[in-house]
Amino acid sequence: MFYVMFGSALTLVYYALPTGGGWGPARVVVYFAISASAVPAIVLGMRAHRPVPPWPWLFIGISQLIFALADASFYTAHLVFGITTFPFVADVLYICHYPVVVTGLALLIGRRSPRRDLPNLLDAALLAVVAAMLSWLYLIEPYVQAGAPQRVSVASLAYPVLDLVLFAVALRLILSSGRRPTAFFLLAFNLAAFVTADTFYVVQQIGGVYGPGTFLDAVWLSGNIALGAAGLHPTMAALGEPAPHRDMHLASSRVVALAAAALVAPGVLLVQHFRGASHDVPVIAAACAVLFLLTITRLAVMVSQQRRLAVTDVLTGLRTRRYFEASLCRALARCTRPPAVFVIDIDRFKAINDRYGHPAGDGVLVEVATRLRGAARDGDVLARYGGEEFALLAFDVEPEAVPAIAERLRAAVAGAPVRVSDEDRLPVTVSVGAACAGRTTEELIAEADRALYAAKAQGRDRVTVGDPGTDHAAALAYLRSTADQVDGLLSTCPHGRPVGRWARLVCERLGCDRTTAANAELAGRLHDIGKILIPPEVLAKPSALTEAEWGLLRQHPDHGFRLINAVPGLDEIAAIVRQHHERVDGAGYPRGLAGNAIRLEARVISVCDAWATMVSDRPYATPRTPEDAAEQLRLGRGSQFDADVVDAFLALHAEGQIEALWERAAL
Ligand code: GH3
Ligand code: MG
Ligand code: MG
Repeated sequence: MFYVMFGSALTLVYYALPTGGGWGPARVVVYFAISASAVPAIVLGMRAHRPVPPWPWLFIGISQLIFALADASFYTAHLVFGITTFPFVADVLYICHYPVVVTGLALLIGRRSPRRDLPNLLDAALLAVVAAMLSWLYLIEPYVQAGAPQRVSVASLAYPVLDLVLFAVALRLILSSGRRPTAFFLLAFNLAAFVTADTFYVVQQIGGVYGPGTFLDAVWLSGNIALGAAGLHPTMAALGEPAPHRDMHLASSRVVALAAAALVAPGVLLVQHFRGASHDVPVIAAACAVLFLLTITRLAVMVSQQRRLAVTDVLTGLRTRRYFEASLCRALARCTRPPAVFVIDIDRFKAINDRYGHPAGDGVLVEVATRLRGAARDGDVLARYGGEEFALLAFDVEPEAVPAIAERLRAAVAGAPVRVSDEDRLPVTVSVGAACAGRTTEELIAEADRALYAAKAQGRDRVTVGDPGTDHAAALAYLRSTADQVDGLLSTCPHGRPVGRWARLVCERLGCDRTTAANAELAGRLHDIGKILIPPEVLAKPSALTEAEWGLLRQHPDHGFRLINAVPGLDEIAAIVRQHHERVDGAGYPRGLAGNAIRLEARVISVCDAWATMVSDRPYATPRTPEDAAEQLRLGRGSQFDADVVDAFLALHAEGQIEALWERAAL
């Protein structure tokens, strides 16, 4: 601030000094002092703020030194000796300063946009083309026409041409992505002031009206002060910081500026037409054509960027599920050999999130994605299919090769521990389900999903290749035996079987149709199957569960849903199983459904399940007597349980139809 105030005060002094009467040298000294002051300002700023690398600022500082020396010789010639010869020593210096400052700015741009930054480049190009056209029409061409001596022509042409180059580079810098701290705006002001003053200078030269000491000097000087202030400002080092991410946002102010710029060329043609003085039509037409092509290119780049964004997962950089499914659909339509689908799910990922936090979990997801990418072939589609689930689409694979590919994916993840925090590395494993024989997208994915769940049920960190021949009966037998396994883990008493039988009886008592009764029986039989995915130490824990353990346990209706739903034709059963822990008062889980939003079969199973649990041996409780259990059902009537279902169940019990758990166990 002090520097700016001091520079502004000196500028006022410059204008206050008389123009004649031997004050020339004093005015030159004051002018030079302001213009050269930016050089020590930049040097001091570089020492204080240490920009890395220093080169951009070094070049900018040197260019300003050359510029100040040029000012000194120009104003000495004009104001002290009255020499107006053109070109003169000062012009050589002025011209020399351009390549130096352009180099400095180019280095800065390179630092700010290390990646390709096509949209901003195209915007800068569009504005530069408009500037070039105007410059040609009103600055360059009049000189070409003027027929001055060659030396004069070359020197006077050099200014608008070099200014144009500087303008293009300045635009590129101003439009580049990257941080825009105060120093950025000061530097931009310097460039804008400089180009504006130079343009007026050339116009006045063409008109033969240029003389030092007019408002133009103030424009140049304010630019110099802004440059010095930029160099001193603490944010000067941040100018060269690479843009953290590519900014795809197109500000409306920029849209307006680009639109206005693109209209300049046709506007000029129109003005010429109405004035009846068309000239340089080929130049304007060429500018129009280039502007049009740049606009189309900008559009194409934007569309392709947005498209890439839409099919890329933000966290892992893999493809999205939508892209995966579309690719699978296309591959199947091509009708050659069906592709192989692999579904890859991280084992016990929730535990990593719970222990190390979500950000660490995200880090693991990124690392797993990288390892899978390394294990997949280049042309294949690897996607993030869900939260911690990935999917690979491999083309042109022999069915015999599928297990080996699945194993390669598994091994790539399990190969080395994954870093989860500065101190901790964790072994992370995945389960892989593969399929290659389906005819439709849904079949292939469902088959791979079934295979994945089989891999999970078999203990995780393994691969399973879906068996295309799996028939319904075999799948059902598999589900039943898994449900029995769960019963065995929980208690010495049978559980699923009696619950299923009672559920059928209750449904019949309630007057349901045969399908509903049969569904209730099968869903009752399988209702706890999801517990196969809950850690056994949680299931069999004799003491009270912690909040986290409850969280795990509450997932079993959802797990059950997925396991059962993987078998074609069992979606009804899966939906019932998912709801068997809902309560009619809405306080149940997993979704807190209430009243009739819960399927009747699930409301029935809920009562039968509670009864079976109350009268059986569990690690955490002794069995209740039937009277006690009946009392508990009555207490929950209308809140935990459906009132009609409780009444029907108790009526059956009173009639002696709800047999003890062990009876008919062989069924
Ligand atoms: P399993 O071996 O049965 O697959 O156990 P799991 O814990 O991996 O399975 P589950 O599907 O129950 O848990 C998946 C967890 O993944 C739940 C969710 O919190 C977490 N998750 C999903 N998306 C993200 C994500 O983008 N970032 C992080 N950090 N966690 C996620
Ligand atoms: Mg998982
Ligand atoms: Mg999962």
